[in-house]
Amino acid sequence: MKHLIPYLIDDQKAADYLRQLRWPNGVQCPRCRSDAVESRERCDNGLQRFNCVHCAARLGQQFAMFTDWTSSIFEESKLRPREWLLVIGLWPLKLNTTEIAAAADIQERTAQRCINLLDGGIYETYHLDPTRQLEHQVEADECYQSAGSKGLPREVERRDREPRQRGIQLRGRATAETGRPPILGLVQRRDKTNQDAPAAQVYLEVLENVRTATIKPIIAAKVKVGAQFFTDEYNIYHFTKVDYDHRTVNHGAGEYARRDPDGTCVHCNTMEGMWSGLRNFLDRFKGISQRFLHLRVARYEFLHNYKHLHWCQTFEATLRSIFSTTGDYLRRMAHQHRRMPLTLCYR
Ligand SMILES: [Zn+2]
Repeated sequence: MKHLIPYLIDDQKAADYLRQLRWPNGVQCPRCRSDAVESRERCDNGLQRFNCVHCAARLGQQFAMFTDWTSSIFEESKLRPREWLLVIGLWPLKLNTTEIAAAADIQERTAQRCINLLDGGIYETYHLDPTRQLEHQVEADECYQSAGSKGLPREVERRDREPRQRGIQLRGRATAETGRPPILGLVQRRDKTNQDAPAAQVYLEVLENVRTATIKPIIAAKVKVGAQFFTDEYNIYHFTKVDYDHRTVNHGAGEYARRDPDGTCVHCNTMEGMWSGLRNFLDRFKGISQRFLHLRVARYEFLHNYKHLHWCQTFEATLRSIFSTTGDYLRRMAHQHRRMPLTLCYR
């Protein structure tokens, strides 16, 4: 984080640095995308004000003002630019809210709000990005994460759901309804023949249940047709043999990896290794509400996929991603009592 020191000294420097990441090719009006903008005086918190000549003429006004943060997730925040810079700098370190609040010297509630904005921005722009697809050799597996509506009776009531029963073994596969939402993991194996290949690319989706009907549209959207597709024997994946070169390992029979006659290694060990990393990360939050689980999972997914890069590159990639959203998803989510159904996101 040494890289940030010069910008953490005052708000103007922090605002200038953030602006450079938002508009690397020069400031554009967030309304009309015109670059015919003129700088005006700064706001009290150091943000630069601009006047869009084009919008002013269009609206028949003397000025059409916007600032560095207009139409970004930071727009309504009361945090100052250098405080934001510090929080965004801490974000890739996989800390929990208490640790971020302590390190940035802000209130825990403020830290919670910041983290939800950042995770939500990444969820909206990176996780839901329809162009991000996996190919070549892809492994699939599922795991179950305890997440409930802990400790807040009012919240439980509001969401029309019984409080989570702890320590009771339920029969059958767990679902979101029983307090253990499944997570579907898809991972593209790292290309070992290429030294410069990025880390194994992963896609993680929190589900309501693990029925074929639930996972089929996700796999169709995320895995390129024709890829080799590795899973265990679980029958929910049987449909994939139509579009993919589907191969299974039989965990039930004690088989965990094998080499097929054509030299292909059949296993899901990359994905299974990733689950322990995800569990370690989620454990730091000491209990996660189902409402936010998918946001934390999206953070893990993003950081995992960028982990081959230097901290500074990851930091700037985070900001570029976050500045390409307006926070629309989070605003819609604020009106939902539960996690937004996936169908809303994949339209
Ligand atoms: Zn404009």
